[in-house]
Amino acid sequence: MSEQAGYATTHATGGCQCGAVRYRVTEPLGACGVCHCRMCQRATGNAFAPLVTARGVIWEGVPGRYASSNISERGFCRDCGTPLFMQDFGSDEYELMTGTLDDPEAAPPDHVCGTEGRLGWVAALAALPEETTAENNPAAQEIRSLQYQAAEAAKEER
Ligand SMILES: [Zn+2]
Ligand SMILES: [Zn+2]
Repeated sequence: MSEQAGYATTHATGGCQCGAVRYRVTEPLGACGVCHCRMCQRATGNAFAPLVTARGVIWEGVPGRYASSNISERGFCRDCGTPLFMQDFGSDEYELMTGTLDDPEAAPPDHVCGTEGRLGWVAALAALPEETTAENNPAAQEIRSLQYQAAEAAKEER
């Protein structure tokens, strides 16, 4: 399986929380925008959506799709609900949710869009008091993620 491990280091991979839907990107990742528009807020249940352009996406598992506008649809896992992407109808290009990447640091944003929907408190985020998960929750050491762990799955395949 060493060939697959090498492949993973040169191509972005990712997927949903439960692992039922996985993807790998066979071309270099494109532009990454943080979208503040109202549709992205609703589709992700979040304040904004970091999305990275990706072509040559190969899926394992079939994502659900919802037509969120007259020009595009949103992909998600039918089992765990993780928002996965936005895609224009008829396009082979995806806008992947960067939080679904196994390495989210691989897609730093290069622009901000949908600013008409940007929430009033977003600009103040960087100045707020900070704490880690352990600082926030004394029982943090007892928290065990039940999410799909790509690195652990790769070890088990070896
Ligand atoms: Zn899932
Ligand atoms: Zn948007």
